[in-house]
Amino acid sequence: MFLVQHQNSVNQFLISQNGFEITLKREDQIHPFISGNKFRKLKYNLIKAKNEGYETLLTFGGAFSNHLTATAVAGKIMGFNTIGIVRGEEDRKINHSLQFCQHQGMTLHHISREDYRLKHLPEFITNLKIKFGRFYLLPEGGTNSLAIKGCEEILTEDDTSFDLIACSVGTGGTLAGLIENALPHQKVLGFSALKNQKIEDEIKKWTINRNWTINRDYTFGGYAKVSPELIYFINRFNKNFKTPLDPVYTGKLLFGIFDLIKNKQWVGGKKILVIHTGGIQGIEGMNQKLSKKKWPIISI
Ligand SMILES: *Cc1c(COP(=O)(O)O)cnc(C)c1O
Repeated sequence: MFLVQHQNSVNQFLISQNGFEITLKREDQIHPFISGNKFRKLKYNLIKAKNEGYETLLTFGGAFSNHLTATAVAGKIMGFNTIGIVRGEEDRKINHSLQFCQHQGMTLHHISREDYRLKHLPEFITNLKIKFGRFYLLPEGGTNSLAIKGCEEILTEDDTSFDLIACSVGTGGTLAGLIENALPHQKVLGFSALKNQKIEDEIKKWTINRNWTINRDYTFGGYAKVSPELIYFINRFNKNFKTPLDPVYTGKLLFGIFDLIKNKQWVGGKKILVIHTGGIQGIEGMNQKLSKKKWPIISI
């Protein structure tokens, strides 16, 4: 039914130390561009869009959005037209990530940050329909109930022995899927990628289980902000474990886990499953920014 060719993710054992065992679930290897949780979030939405005869997908994202690239590629493979509404007016050269979306056939429509904040309003959507015709709407970050249903499939019967499941959090959709599909003996720990985000209420709307907590201590100053220390960590991690991490989500997640364990502040279970949600496509765009600042860049 789902036309996209993809790999199943595998668990990669990382390290065993002082009674802690860390295993990484390689969702990043599902597909080179429809990677990780974005594949999970699109799956049931795209099936529904096909079944209901939609020809066009429309969605929203920032200039480096993994969700936009995943939608562009999955849309192309499944024969949809795709429209990406991009936050921030186009006043500088279009970046690698957006250029890639365009090459997949996505129509990009840049709007100001002020207008972007209004995108949930019915009038806003009506105006888009006048401009672009009938479309299947995927929300920003791709999170809705079908997306969460897809994310529930991240956990399988191979994962029953873990007692803690850790994942990075943006909109919280992926975490919600993990929360709902975790077993009674498992706790779910989310590491927020955004500062000051009141994500708990959002997650409660999507979930019944109360087996989870959010850590906000590893945002590195906010969404897509990085420090040389984080980049050194990502590069060292890649060297040691032959596994790339992205600087926006998974790099901060693994940094946080290693840091908490090292400082003896880890309070969760000791058999840890970490979800590698993907995001590798965004490294190139981040490296363009880093080299302008003359900072170290991320090795892939
Ligand atoms: C989008 C994204 C997330 C955040 O997922 P949410 O479901 O929005 O919380 C985490 N990791 C990566 C790599 C992503 O691209």
